Amino acid sequence: MANIVAIVGRPNVGKSTLYNRLTESRKAIVDDFSGVTRDRHYGEAEWIGKRFTVIDTGGFVHGSDDVFEAAIREQVHIAIDEASVIIFMVDVTTGITDLDDEIANLLRRSKKPVYVVANKVDHAKLHNDSAEFYGFGLGEIYNISSATGSGTGELLDDVVSHFEVEEEDETELPKFTIVGRPNVGKSSLTNALLGHERNIVTDIAGTTRDSIRIHYNQFGHEFLLIDTAGMRKKAKVSENIEFYSVMRTIKALEDSDVVLLMIDANDGIESQDINIFHLAEKNKKGIVILVNKWDMIEKDHKTIKEFEAKIKEKIAPFVDVPILFTSVTEKQRIFKTVEVAMEVFQNKTKKIPTSKLNDVMLAIIENNPPPATKGKYIKIKYVTQIPGRSPMFAFFCNLPQYVKDSYKRFIENKLRENFDFKGVPIQIYFRQK
Ligand code: GDP
Ligand code: GDP
Repeated sequence: MANIVAIVGRPNVGKSTLYNRLTESRKAIVDDFSGVTRDRHYGEAEWIGKRFTVIDTGGFVHGSDDVFEAAIREQVHIAIDEASVIIFMVDVTTGITDLDDEIANLLRRSKKPVYVVANKVDHAKLHNDSAEFYGFGLGEIYNISSATGSGTGELLDDVVSHFEVEEEDETELPKFTIVGRPNVGKSSLTNALLGHERNIVTDIAGTTRDSIRIHYNQFGHEFLLIDTAGMRKKAKVSENIEFYSVMRTIKALEDSDVVLLMIDANDGIESQDINIFHLAEKNKKGIVILVNKWDMIEKDHKTIKEFEAKIKEKIAPFVDVPILFTSVTEKQRIFKTVEVAMEVFQNKTKKIPTSKLNDVMLAIIENNPPPATKGKYIKIKYVTQIPGRSPMFAFFCNLPQYVKDSYKRFIENKLRENFDFKGVPIQIYFRQK
């Protein structure tokens, strides 16, 4: 189950500063991709080996002051429904405001764990000032400074105490999820795939899962489809609220191997689609892009190429992703979608034999060695695939710290050219031998 930490609070208390601190630290450890868009309000974080998704709810509020307040209230409701843990942030330098009080009133009714965080406690002498926040009746106050990071360790220790260290999933079957903005055709595709077989639904939604898994076993392909349409029916609030659909998408992604990102051919790829794409990429999910409602587009011989080019420009640098042009209503390329998703799953789970990997990659490296840095030569001796749920490669060399990002990209491209990893994010590490 997805661990989601939502940071709520009125504007300017420091939510996005804390968000950046939590997600940047993880990025520094694991994110090998450079040039990925940073303008996001949800991202991965990790503390003592436990992974979770942080959402800065403030990033989803736009508009005038009263629109603001209504939106903040709505977000608190959504956070109460959807998040695993809520961080309620207040500002020690301003004390309690009416909006703080209002948020506290909503949160007191929540059954979810709520942590009251007094931010901007930059000096020890401000510690006592935060005592007024006990008045919320929400328990312990955590004094932190998002700017310097002080106090965040104690907070995170307690936040992650609600999470388990990840366990391997019990099922061997590939898990696919169809995601995308409202009305792109997700339910239509689910229905088209399952047709009259829909009654074979294995509903293990129960208490621990947020989604329904449907067992598909036809035409030589067997997989589980994570049905988010089922989740949508439970919704009390409109899925048009971006913040809400983002939460739901995160939960659906977490539980899947391959994400079918459906976009509407009439609109092209939009910023929310790109955010979902990057979220899937960061979480090392397989990705297939479906450009649906292709029947509605006037086409000539160049149209597909032009669409592909536009999409790739937006999702760069990770562009080695299958793009299919579908029409669910006209039943075009629906089974192709299944085939390609299965291929991506195979690419994601395959293991390249070490001898083959070395034969191919060391020859390439010999012809194109990493450029010398500060007069030092980097010698790559050996490469191996690290076991894991998505492809990871370790290149052993004498001076890993001198390998440049541009060389990592070169190596990634060569891996992709020589061993099919279409649709799959891959990680490359340089290690000291
Ligand atoms: P948000 O609107 O809640 O996301 O707040 P921001 O993260 O944008 O921060 C609002 C302002 O408070 C910015 O000017 C930050 O630099 C500042 N700020 C955030 N955290 C701290 C902190 O721990 N101490 C101090 N002194 N300022 C902070
Ligand atoms: P969801 O909100 O993503 O689950 O979208 P739906 O599956 O409910 O589809 C929204 C609308 O788009 C419905 O009226 C569908 O009939 C229509 N639709 C879905 N796929 C296609 C398609 O390939 N072509 C056309 N023209 N309409 C489609």
